[in-house]
Amino acid sequence: MTSRNQQLFEQSQRLIPGGVNSPVRAFRSVGGTPVFFKRGKGSRLWDEDGKEYIDYVGSWGPMILGHAHPEVFAAVQKAAENSLSFGAPTALELEMAELISTLVPSMEQVRLVSSGTEATMSAIRLARGYTGRSKILKFEGCYHGHADSLLVKAGSGALTFGQPSSAGVPPELAAHTLTLAYNDNAAVEQLFEQMGSEIACIIVEPVVGNMNLIVPQNDFLNLLRAQCTKHGAVLIFDEVMTGFRVALGGAQALYGITPDLTTLGKVIGGGLPVGAFGGRRDIMNCLAPLGPVYQAGTLSGNPVAVSAGLATLKLIQTPDFHARLNQTTHQMVQGLVNSARNAGVTFSGQNVGGMFGLYFSASCPDSFDAVMQSDKEAFNRFFHAMLEAGIYLAPSAFEAGFVSAAHTAEDIAATIAAADNIFAHW
Ligand code: PMP
Repeated sequence: MTSRNQQLFEQSQRLIPGGVNSPVRAFRSVGGTPVFFKRGKGSRLWDEDGKEYIDYVGSWGPMILGHAHPEVFAAVQKAAENSLSFGAPTALELEMAELISTLVPSMEQVRLVSSGTEATMSAIRLARGYTGRSKILKFEGCYHGHADSLLVKAGSGALTFGQPSSAGVPPELAAHTLTLAYNDNAAVEQLFEQMGSEIACIIVEPVVGNMNLIVPQNDFLNLLRAQCTKHGAVLIFDEVMTGFRVALGGAQALYGITPDLTTLGKVIGGGLPVGAFGGRRDIMNCLAPLGPVYQAGTLSGNPVAVSAGLATLKLIQTPDFHARLNQTTHQMVQGLVNSARNAGVTFSGQNVGGMFGLYFSASCPDSFDAVMQSDKEAFNRFFHAMLEAGIYLAPSAFEAGFVSAAHTAEDIAATIAAADNIFAHW
């Protein structure tokens, strides 16, 4: 008998390219039929066939409080009663800007947008406008949304002038995007030595969550800060994923490094479309209507979305919120690592706050190349066995996972028990 999930996927593929509205949802990496979800509550999800799951994706980060949190829902409902959109300033936006600036003090001024992609795209344009330079530096395996300049990768390890990693990106534009390996301090120093005066900005995920989880090492972030300061380039921390998640003040608070610009998304909207970019006042003053760098949005600062974000940000400020989230995540990851070790399976794992990485490799990787050497087939097998057992992990060996404050000790125990069972029969 075909399941409703399968029926929906077949029908969707006729009308929606690949059956999905964002590629990773199609399960291309792990194979099989994507799960169509109908309902979520706290740490739990239910699909169209009525099967229940413990959720470790959390809509790719925003659901830090779990699904359908009553206070977030009430805030959305209240805002919706007063109109869904004005396209004009509101007191809510001011409240959001004040809160962001308080929690992330490097963001002296803030502009709201509707996605992480818009935030990073705008921050790059602003950095180019502010410096009058064209080149940007990003790191292999970091994802900063799908703006043309950012869809570029390099040949492994070595610096090349950018080759677009998507069709439709003009090579002339991609040529302005330089790509180096993450955590490669010497390569960054060498590049700035050669062409520091041409580089508008570095954009970096301060903890990478888009090639599985990769942690900065050997003072990498400090080196980026120093090189940008020395050569007059703008340092952009893309905290779309890490913001309000690895610590209340984001990765910049965790590592004690002050970027010039920061981009935010995901948690800041609590599950509705909100993004933000902000930073040094002198740089932000280059934005229209004050300055020559154009940026705009019909739904920017949308009152309903901002209300969901404000309710979320209010709740995550409770004492010990992030310490508890870190502890829950750590317990889950260590449980899986022990489970694999007991069964003699090559496996490693780590977490930074509520973000985690699981790898079918002997130790935690520190670069794109190292991640690529992990056993993808083993991950795919594990993914499907966990899915069958009602544990919903990210459907790719190259994505980080997320734990919410709604995950209970029972959820963690059930997750580890499922892994015990799978690894015992590995
Ligand atoms: N930057 C980072 C670090 C991200 O993880 C993402 C999305 N996963 C983006 C930017 C793009 O955000 P969005 O999907 O909201 O456009």
